[in-house]
Amino acid sequence: MSDMDELYKEVILDHYRAPRNRGRIEEAEVHLHRDNPLCGDEIDLYLDLEDGKVKGVTFEGRGCSISQASISMMTEALTGLTLEEAEGVANSFKHMMQGDAEVESEDLGELVALKGVQKYPVRIKCAMLGWNTFLEGTKSYREKP
Ligand code: ZN
Repeated sequence: MSDMDELYKEVILDHYRAPRNRGRIEEAEVHLHRDNPLCGDEIDLYLDLEDGKVKGVTFEGRGCSISQASISMMTEALTGLTLEEAEGVANSFKHMMQGDAEVESEDLGELVALKGVQKYPVRIKCAMLGWNTFLEGTKSYREKP
């Protein structure tokens, strides 16, 4: 295992052991519960959206280290961004996980730690769970009358 792989593994384990932004948001604009039955991962995602901005992202969940670390990293990456920016990061992350070479890894910061997961196709669903839920949540938020 290379030094880089070791570093990435550490980042993932750190988020798994000490998840960021865990908890719920009362009166969240978006609250979704989603799971990944293939692995048994479950999450509740809460979004505090105001004036076109992502003011807060929190979650509760259980499951494998990849699913829980990925959503913890997501909450840090998206908090404070505009809705458009946050959706852009989510789509870039999705493309990275799909092996799209055009994604500039440096734009994704520590999220590149999850790139190695693409070598294990069954785990990609674990890594994407939080992100797909986020994109689903903002889509339904926009479609609200
Ligand atoms: Zn999983």
